[in-house]
Formats: sequence, structure tokens, C-alpha cells
Amino acid sequence: MQNAKIIDGKGISLTIREEVRDMTAELRAKHGVIPGLAFLLVGDNPASQSYVRSKERACEFCGFHSTTVTMPENVVEADILARIDTWNIDPDIHGILVQLPLPEHVDEDRVIEAISPRKDVDGFHPVNVGKLVIGQEAFLPCTPAGIQELLVRSDIETAGRHVVVVGRSNIVGKPIANILLQKAAGANAIVTVAHSAAPDLARFTRDADILIVATGRVNTVTADMVKDGVVVVDVGINRVEDSTREKGYRLVGDVDFEGVCSRASAITPVPGGVGPMTIAMLMKNTYRSALRSISGR
Ligand code: NDP
Repeated sequence: MQNAKIIDGKGISLTIREEVRDMTAELRAKHGVIPGLAFLLVGDNPASQSYVRSKERACEFCGFHSTTVTMPENVVEADILARIDTWNIDPDIHGILVQLPLPEHVDEDRVIEAISPRKDVDGFHPVNVGKLVIGQEAFLPCTPAGIQELLVRSDIETAGRHVVVVGRSNIVGKPIANILLQKAAGANAIVTVAHSAAPDLARFTRDADILIVATGRVNTVTADMVKDGVVVVDVGINRVEDSTREKGYRLVGDVDFEGVCSRASAITPVPGGVGPMTIAMLMKNTYRSALRSISGR
């Protein structure tokens, strides 16, 4: 039996995109500034190509200009760094996004660090990561920023509540824990981070008022592992075989959705929950960067 309210990430992300589109039109009319986002795509990984296409389409929707440079799999790292340097000083480019993963011979950290922190709209540069941790204004990584936005726009209070994050990756687990820990609106939570070394994961998840799961493992959390009334944010995207689907698979999260729905007060579905928020927040970060370019701050 399903009791939980379904948090509509698809609808919320569309609202954010529309807001960004409207703010962009105003920015253009008042200041003649058009947000610009540059994509660097290396190799011919179909998933990466598809992600970049979706982001290009979002740029079009919001009224941004975007440019995509594709480099071959065997590119030398210096060429990537040179391209980033060019965009770093290009006043028409407000955001730089290097689609990950990069080929093994390229040092991902060096590439991310080459991006100007002022144009790091993915929020992965150590300067932005550090600013987030110490509570300074920074570009927040898009998926965790999207999770916070989902909670805020769903009127889910985080202040003083126990948030348990399962997963400690640099792109989801660690940043969402740090975002919700800040003494700030939409945050101010008591945060616990659990990971694969937890001997008894349920001991932590059962204590969560808000449970955020980002493990990349199907059924990491089942109904017996949560308390009644919990809010569940399922970040996972996993393919499971399904012969009834045309593609032969369907997407599921890290949480046993059907089971947990009977106990949770609210839950994000997969697909249609956290997933669509990532690109919406990328648009918002790029808009903010363009806005900041006017004041020169
Ligand atoms: P990573 O593989 O980088 O990290 C997974 C984390 O989960 C690790 O910290 C790992 O622990 C922990 N973990 C794994 N298994 C368990 C377990 N059984 N119990 C407790 N902890 C466990 O994954 P990401 O953070 O990059 O991604 C997580 C999921 O979110 C994936 O399905 C991914 O596809 C999805 N995702 C969705 C996005 C979106 O919607 N836009 C964006 C990014 C990711 P340890 O550190 O000890 O190994």
C-alpha cells in the first residue's frame, strides 16, 4: 500500500528551468548579457554524448548560448588544459563543464583544477568544495544542490532534523552532507554519513528523519530499515533487466521503492526524482555566474 507523497522532481526541475529562462530574458534585456556554457567532451562514450546533448538542449530552453568542443579519446592532456585556459579568459563563457569520466591517461584532478573557480559551474573545483565546507558562497555541485532544492520546494523542514546520508562520494554523499550541515536556511540539520564500512547500516538508517541514499546498489534500503514518517531521497540510478520493456531493462533507485512507500511520508521516485534536478541546477549555476560577471565580483 502506498502512503508516501511522491516528490515530483520532474515538475520542480521544469519550474526551475522556467524561472532561469525568465531571469535570463531579463538579464539580456537589462544588461545585454547572455549566459554562456562551454562543454568539453572527450572520446565517443555514448552516455557522455547523451548527457551533453541534454545539457545543450537545456541551454537552448533557458536562452543561453552554448558551445561544445569534442576531442578524440587519445587527446593529450595539454590540449585539454589549453582549451580550458581559452574559456577561462573568454568573457562570453560563464560556465565550463568537462564531461566526466575522462580517458585514463588524463589526470581528472588536474583538469578540474585548471577550470577557473569562477566558471566552475559543476562545483567540483577544490576552491568551491572548500568554500562549501566553511560556509562561504560557492558553486554547489548540481546533484546535491538539486536535492536541497527538492526538500525546500517540497516544504520539508531540515533544521534540527536528523539527516542520514548513505554514500560518501565527492559528487553526492560528501557535498550533500556538507550542504545540509550549514547553519543556513534550507539546512541546519544534524547529519550522519554512513558508507560501506558500516557494520549494520540499518542502525543508522532507522534513526533518520530524512534519508538520502546514494550508493549505486539496488535495494540498499528496504522497508525494515526505516522508521515510519521518514522522508526518503533516492539518488541511485540502476538498470535492472526487464523483458517487458522495449529496451530490455528499466531504471530503479537504491531504495526498495514499493516497500519503503508504505512507511515513508515522502519519497523521490526513480526516474523523475533527483535525476532531472541536476541539469536544472547546472542552468541555475550558469545564470548566477553570468549575473556575477556584471558586478565583476
Ligand atoms: P559512488 O560509487 O562514487 O559512491 C557510492 C557510495 O556508496 C560509496 O561511498 C560507498 O561506500 C557507498 N556504498 C556502496 N554500497 C554500500 C552499502 N551496501 N552500504 C552502505 N554504503 C554503500 O557513487 P555516486 O555517489 O557517484 O553515485 C551513487 C548513485 O547515484 C549511483 O547510482 C549514480 O548513478 C547515482 N547518481 C545520480 C545522479 C543524478 O541523479 N543526477 C548524479 C550522480 C550519481 P565506500 O565509500 O565505502 O565505497
